[in-house]
Amino acid sequence: MKNFSKTKSNAFKIIVVGDKRVGKSNIVTRFTQNEFSLESSSSPMINIYTDMKIKPDRSSELRRSCSKEEEEVKFHIWDTECQEEPHSLHLYFKGCHGIMLVYDVTKQHSFESLSGWMDTIKEHLPETNIVLVGNKSDLHNLKTVCAEDGQAFADSHGIPFYEASALDCSNINEAFEDLLQSVIDSRE
Ligand code: GDP
Repeated sequence: MKNFSKTKSNAFKIIVVGDKRVGKSNIVTRFTQNEFSLESSSSPMINIYTDMKIKPDRSSELRRSCSKEEEEVKFHIWDTECQEEPHSLHLYFKGCHGIMLVYDVTKQHSFESLSGWMDTIKEHLPETNIVLVGNKSDLHNLKTVCAEDGQAFADSHGIPFYEASALDCSNINEAFEDLLQSVIDSRE
């Protein structure tokens, strides 16, 4: 069982990491606000800091575990832009309960970066919950990383994998809810 401290208010920190322009900001805004932007965000550090309350009716899965305890669970979702500041990563990882690791299915190099990201994650947070997301699945004709490769990488690290699109919404909720559920389950 994973062991991390529960904050007083049942608040959990989730961070979204991956190479630049893989779609991290849009994944977060799609999930939290159901919004998408064609513009790339330019903030050099944390793009968005979102307080999000998951109520028991958020989804059937989350409802099960939340209503069991009749509580409201709060997630702080951090959209990071820290690729060029590896020395500052510990600030992002500090107190983190779950990580969404993102690559772009149209950018092979963002997939090749995953091993480095996993090394960094394991170094800072060896026990954390992780979900792998191959974003931009809507760009079928531009795809250079096949789903089988994404799945194989995820399997080799024992983590869930989703091909998703912040543009057409596919699998964004599913990936987040999988991660948030595992965070809730892990505290017990
Ligand atoms: P970040 O740097 O990882 O936060 O990436 P952004 O969220 O700023 O997105 C970078 C670019 O990719 C922007 O032009 C977005 O509009 C675009 N983008 C993000 N997600 C998707 C997606 O699912 N599909 C498509 N086609 N474009 C996307």
